[in-house]
Amino acid sequence: MSDLAISEDLRDISVEDFRLRARAWIKANLGPIQPWDISQDCENDEEELVAVARDRALQRKLFDGGFAGICFPREYGGQGLSPAHQRAFNEELVGHEFPSRFAVPTFSPCAAVLLEFGTAEQKAAHIPAILKGDEVWVQMLSEPGGGSDVAGATTAAVRGQDADGDHWILNGSKVWTSRAWWADWGLCLARTNWNVPKHQGLTVFLLPLQQPGVEIHRIERLNGESEACQEFMTDVRIPESDRMGEIDAGWTVGTRWMYHERMGSNSPYVTRPIGISNAAAEGPTPVAIARRVGRLDDPAAQELIGEARELDIVTHALRSRLADAAASGKGNTDSSAIDRLFCGIARVRQSTIAFELAGSSAAGWTEEEEEETGAQGMEFLMRQVSCIGGGTTEIARNVISERVLGMPREASGDRNVAFRDVPRGPARG
Ligand SMILES: Cc1cc2nc3c(=O)[nH]c(=O)nc-3n(C[C@H](O)[C@H](O)[C@H](O)COP(=O)(O)OP(=O)(O)OC[C@H]3O[C@@H](n4cnc5c(N)ncnc54)[C@H](O)[C@@H]3O)c2cc1C
Repeated sequence: MSDLAISEDLRDISVEDFRLRARAWIKANLGPIQPWDISQDCENDEEELVAVARDRALQRKLFDGGFAGICFPREYGGQGLSPAHQRAFNEELVGHEFPSRFAVPTFSPCAAVLLEFGTAEQKAAHIPAILKGDEVWVQMLSEPGGGSDVAGATTAAVRGQDADGDHWILNGSKVWTSRAWWADWGLCLARTNWNVPKHQGLTVFLLPLQQPGVEIHRIERLNGESEACQEFMTDVRIPESDRMGEIDAGWTVGTRWMYHERMGSNSPYVTRPIGISNAAAEGPTPVAIARRVGRLDDPAAQELIGEARELDIVTHALRSRLADAAASGKGNTDSSAIDRLFCGIARVRQSTIAFELAGSSAAGWTEEEEEETGAQGMEFLMRQVSCIGGGTTEIARNVISERVLGMPREASGDRNVAFRDVPRGPARG
């Protein structure tokens, strides 16, 4: 353990004193940020597994240094400090390596949901393990029949009892689960009652992923990456002790789960350098692209550079404001949908700006050329991802209009019907 580690009782440490400690510890213990910290793109599975091992070790280092789980209660291994302390740490972290594969979804939404709804035993079993880098979690919401209608889940859990005790048998499929192939645990939303309307028959389970009965397939995306997975669960036995929340009340967990999901990297539970947009961190800056293609003096290029910078500034200001509101309990909790919507559309625009700045040099014929040009062409083709992952921007617009602005709810034919009587296409089981 470093000699800067927080060993005494720091319950009352001011944010500024904590910042100074964090600054010194980070400088002494963490190296410079690496490209894969943000983009998380690795060349192949071997490299990805090396990066995973490195992130586990980094998370352990934070834990040993007394900087893991800054806002988590002390009884579960956290520091019991405030979101402002976590924010100060994240500000000091800029420019340094960090365990990026833990940020989302392990800490937010998964650990945040565990903290809110887990039993004392579940929290004691998993939160310290997460803080120490021993457990990576994924979220299992989307299904082949659709991801936006989360409450329409058809993955089914049936209760049983045998000599080994009360348990559930899980059958079905989840899809688009990022990183399931190497993760440890999944938070899984399943249908436990088909005789009530869809929101009333769901339950959440904690599911170890690497076990017989859970078959994990990789899905290759347009950019060649295959971190997205589809899981097929066949007669998977889940002990009753791994049920989270009340039976059939999974939607209560689910609504908070989606809140934490929309908060994403802006959540007070997440350790991640603050103030850099993904777009800025992932590729060359707009200024660097304009320099490369000789357009620094071109007024049209300058306009684009200004616009990209403006989006960064507004994103940062908006996220800070929403995080402050969430931390103080003043904001409408559904306001996280504003963050989700703005970040999605800002990211699309920033990818488009990079593409427009690069012009014909945006695309390379070979991987080497792509590397040289910064792959703006591929970024441009992949841009829509930021409007889909973590729930689509269309759904965020629905949430903002209905739950933040109080506009009427959209029409729905399945709200008061027993779920088994709701017409479903073949993919919905
Ligand atoms: C990078 C990435 C990572 C992801 N990681 C995960 C993960 O770890 N775990 C997980 O469970 N899922 C994950 N997803 C899945 C993601 O949550 C879903 O793709 C998303 O919720 C949309 O679901 P869908 O693709 O099935 O589209 P659908 O739900 O079929 O929607 C199709 C289109 O219709 C629109 N639409 C649907 N309903 C409405 C409505 N009521 N009002 C207006 N428009 C509507 C949608 O916005 C969308 O444009 C990930 C996706 C991506 C891209």
